[in-house]
Amino acid sequence: MTTATLIDGKRVAQDVQQQTAARVEKLKQAVGVTACLATVLVGEDPASAKYVAAKRRLCEKLGLASVFVKLDETTTTEQLVDKINELGRDANVHGILLQHPVPKQIDERAAFEAIPAQKDVDGVTFHSFGTMFYGLPGYESCTPGGIIRLLDAYDVDIRGKHAVVIGRSAILGKPMAGLLLNRDATVTVCHSRTVDLPELVKQADIVVAAVGKPAFVQGDWIKDGAVVIDAGFNPGPKGNIGDVDFEPASERAGLITPVPGGVGPMTLAVLVEQTSIAAARQAGVEI
Ligand code: NAP
Repeated sequence: MTTATLIDGKRVAQDVQQQTAARVEKLKQAVGVTACLATVLVGEDPASAKYVAAKRRLCEKLGLASVFVKLDETTTTEQLVDKINELGRDANVHGILLQHPVPKQIDERAAFEAIPAQKDVDGVTFHSFGTMFYGLPGYESCTPGGIIRLLDAYDVDIRGKHAVVIGRSAILGKPMAGLLLNRDATVTVCHSRTVDLPELVKQADIVVAAVGKPAFVQGDWIKDGAVVIDAGFNPGPKGNIGDVDFEPASERAGLITPVPGGVGPMTLAVLVEQTSIAAARQAGVEI
């Protein structure tokens, strides 16, 4: 039986989308600029193709333009960097998203670093990492940025709380830890070499699961009343499931995100929001 309050990511994402659509429209009216996201997909991974298509659909829904670049599975680092440089020079493109992962022969870091900082709306460059960790203006990694928005939307007081982040990937766990730290949480970052993970999770006021293992976080690890954010998205027998064993965890948590419908919609919403902000900044207007 679920006793926790469900965090409705779809609803919060709708709010972000509405604000984005309004900013996009104002920008068109003010200076005749249509915010534009370039999406770059390398190879044939069906999940990646689906994610890119969803990003383009959301652009269209909110009044943004989008440019789609599809490159072969055999693309070299140099070819990909050349293409990203070209998009970087294109004044009609305001944000660039390179879909992760890229085929093995490509140096993904070199490709990410080719994205100019002012167009890095997915928050993947060293520059964006720096600004994010220093709390300076820039662009956030979209999933962690979206998680902070969810916590704010549900009035979760982050300051002074013990947040346990499970996972330390460059797109999720590490930036999540930085954003929580900037909001004055006391942060513990766990990973595959962490000793006695359940004991650490039991101390958490806020748990962020970013492991990539279905139903990995057990219900009896959750402290009564804790906020549980499940960033996981794993194929399951009846559709995708999260990293948290939802039913038992929701009997203890105070607030919990469902999968789907929790973190996922926020990632997309923040990406498109950041594109609209980038377009306004590049046009030199404050909207
Ligand atoms: P990742 O790069 O595979 O990272 C997984 C992290 O989990 C690593 O840091 C790993 O530790 C840690 N880990 C693995 N086994 C562990 C264990 N037994 N105990 C503790 N930590 C362990 O995955 P990711 O890209 O961060 O993604 C994580 C999940 O989020 C996936 O399910 C992914 O699909 C989902 N995701 C969702 C969205 C969204 O929009 N909803 C966006 C991105 C990702 P090591 O560093 O030691 O290997």
